[in-house]
Amino acid sequence: MTFDRYGQLKPSGSAAWLRQPSREFSAICPFSPTADDEDELALRHFPAAAHKNPLLGRYETAFVGHVEEADYRTNGSSGGLVTWVAKELLIRGMVDGVAHVTENMNPQANEPLFRYTLSRTLADLRAGAKSRYYPVELSGVLDEIRKTPGRYAVIGIPCFIKAVRLSCAAEPLLKERISFTFGLFCGHMKSARMAESFAWQMHRDLREAEHFDYRAKSPDRPANWYRAQMTLTDGSTAALDWWHMADGDWGAGFFQNPACNFCDDVVAETADIAFGDAWQEPYSSDGRGTNVIIVRSPSLLRLIQAGIDAQQLSLVPVEPSFIIATQAAGFRQRREGLSFRLTWPRLGIRPRKRVVPGSHALSVQRKTIYTMRYAISHWSHRVFWLARWLKWPQLYFAWARVALASYHGLVYSRGKLGRLLAGIGFGDFESRR
Ligand SMILES: Cc1cc2nc3c(=O)[nH]c(=O)nc-3n(C[C@H](O)[C@H](O)[C@H](O)COP(=O)(O)OP(=O)(O)OC[C@H]3O[C@@H](n4cnc5c(N)ncnc54)[C@H](O)[C@@H]3O)c2cc1C
Repeated sequence: MTFDRYGQLKPSGSAAWLRQPSREFSAICPFSPTADDEDELALRHFPAAAHKNPLLGRYETAFVGHVEEADYRTNGSSGGLVTWVAKELLIRGMVDGVAHVTENMNPQANEPLFRYTLSRTLADLRAGAKSRYYPVELSGVLDEIRKTPGRYAVIGIPCFIKAVRLSCAAEPLLKERISFTFGLFCGHMKSARMAESFAWQMHRDLREAEHFDYRAKSPDRPANWYRAQMTLTDGSTAALDWWHMADGDWGAGFFQNPACNFCDDVVAETADIAFGDAWQEPYSSDGRGTNVIIVRSPSLLRLIQAGIDAQQLSLVPVEPSFIIATQAAGFRQRREGLSFRLTWPRLGIRPRKRVVPGSHALSVQRKTIYTMRYAISHWSHRVFWLARWLKWPQLYFAWARVALASYHGLVYSRGKLGRLLAGIGFGDFESRR
């Protein structure tokens, strides 16, 4: 996997290989039309699940809450539960290492900011907390798992966990060694350029950054007011709210990976346990951060229950409708939005999805929103590339501001365009994520 000019990881190889992937590759690629889908994998891994939901998949119990123990919540992006559950597996000896995404300390020029690492100690695991909206790839940690006997947990967004499941099915050694999979709910993946753009908007060079935090937390601000923060090599910090950035509205799709246009799994349906943010009041206003979790593995449910009993976790069970409401925008984009995108003409491989093309009756406004989001993500890569090449950030910012104002006019009836559109019957449609 190598970075392309848009800051996205792509498989590299001969043109012939890329045109005609091997049967082995097609069996493990999460977007391959010939690989098993999420329903087939979930049925194989959780045949006796207590619940089955069309949007959440198979599961035992769903919860909302956070970690009470120590400072896991403060140090996590959300309620700190991912790191807490991984820590329990390590200290109980249920795994020898955890594959997750950590900062690439002291990156040389052109090296990625973040990468997959295997953490074997509590200190390393905890140092890796926080969400990284940055391209990463699994080959290094999978090789390490192949080389070193032991039991491992892998943390990843839904398509990565699906890839791990498919790889385990194809390779008994991985199946034997990967004992647990942790999924992160996912709206979409960003390119490496988003961090660069944020740094530009803080009037800093990303190469000066020692740490980059996409979601610096503050208990006195709502959790959904994301704030990016860079710590520079001289120890100073620079920070800016996402809402104040030209491209900081997550839902507009800036820098989205194109593969995400063809994903139908929001909640990591193939993972043993999946974690997200509780984007529902009163939780979204609580700056300390709150998780929603979906537990699919009975042994992890017992571990969670022990944490609740020991008052290390503050969790209450919730109905599926609550979890779905926390991810409403993600489900719209990956169900009705996907059904619309699948009707578009397309050259090359046609993805096989669980969503039927054209299965949702959509208004003109909804179709325009999905088309605009697609266009913003497509052009953000290209305009940023040009601005970077010309060393002219203002070119990108001017384009991004116009794109965002048009999107907000259409979606929230904001600004002059919004008033105009509202006048012809396009109302405020989509609540903010
Ligand atoms: C690209 C992306 C999109 C997301 N979209 C949504 C969404 O739409 N809705 C939602 O509710 N939640 C989403 N999340 C999940 C959310 O950001 C939090 O990660 C989740 O709520 C867990 O928070 P926590 O405090 O429990 O985790 P923490 O205790 O902070 O631990 C996070 C763990 O995940 C690992 N990690 C971070 N980034 C990655 C990565 N890219 N790949 C693999 N491992 C990683 C870290 O190394 C750490 O071990 C997304 C996450 C990512 C990475």
